[in-house]
This record gives sequence, structure tokens and C-alpha cells, in this order.
Amino acid sequence: MTRAQAGERPSSPGASAGARDDEIVSARLVAWLDAVLAGRAPNAGRFCGNCYHPRQAEDGDCPHCGSSVAKAGTVDSVPLVIIEAHRRRRGREGLVVRSIAWIGLTIGVVLALVPLAFAGVTWWTLTAFFGLLIFFYIFSANVANSLGDAWGYRWGLAIFRRAWDQHLAARADGSAGDA
Ligand SMILES: [Zn+2]
Repeated sequence: MTRAQAGERPSSPGASAGARDDEIVSARLVAWLDAVLAGRAPNAGRFCGNCYHPRQAEDGDCPHCGSSVAKAGTVDSVPLVIIEAHRRRRGREGLVVRSIAWIGLTIGVVLALVPLAFAGVTWWTLTAFFGLLIFFYIFSANVANSLGDAWGYRWGLAIFRRAWDQHLAARADGSAGDA
């Protein structure tokens, strides 16, 4: 079913740079946003004035969106609304994966208790209890990492896309307060 879709892309977010063509901003900006959220980078540097792709000192066209420095300019920080949107995106991705893992484990514990509840403590109900626990532990971890990762990715991306579109609209009518 959805396993094929999940297998089409790397299972850990940001594992391979630029592998996802449905990303909204450049892979380098995504990696940089992750570094800012982790406290490994300050929100300062040189960025494309159009797409916020991190730029070096060069003044050629932006390697991501193609805008020239003369036309789009550069900014020395990424708007906070974009960083905040990325934080919400990553938060949602993690929430979906963790929720699926916990739901699967909870179902497993409940099912594993059924034989014990109805047939009492015997060698086979104890075997079934631990067998079901181990099965659901592995099962829910797998579903969380495949299906949960795919759902979280799409949900998180939708959150980011909404904020990005709002920011572009605000920037276009001059109410964004940056760039
Ligand atoms: Zn650009």
C-alpha cells in the first residue's frame, strides 16, 4: 500500500541532501534551519533575498532559484516566521512518528493481556503475552518509521508551505517587515 511511497525517499528526514523534489526551499536552507533549531548556527549570514538559500560571498545568480543578487538582493538573516515554521514542521514530524509508535504499543499491550484475563496465568497465556508484546513492539516501530515518517513528512511540509505562502504574500505587499 503506502509502503512503496515510503520507500521512495530516505526514511530519516534530512538524511540525504536534495533528494526530495517536493521540498519548498533549498536542501541547504533546510539543513541550515535544522542547525539553527539545534543551536549549532546563529541566524546570521548571507542569504538569497528571494528564496533564502545560503549564499557565499559570490555575486552570481542564486544556485537555487536563479535570482541575481542585483535583482533579488541578499539578506543577512532568515525571517523569524520561516524559522518558526520550520520548528513547527519538525515538531509535527516527530509527533506523528511518536504517536503511531505509542498507539501500536498500546494496542499490543491490550491484546497481550486478553489471554491472561480470560484464561488465567498458564504457560501458554504467558508465552502469548510476551510473544504479542515483542511482535507489537517491532511492528509499531516499523509502522512508525515507514508510514509515520511518510505522514509526518507530508503533514510537516504542508505546515511549512502554508507559512511560506503567507510570508511570500506579506513580502509582496510590503507588510512582512523584512527583506
Ligand atoms: Zn534564491
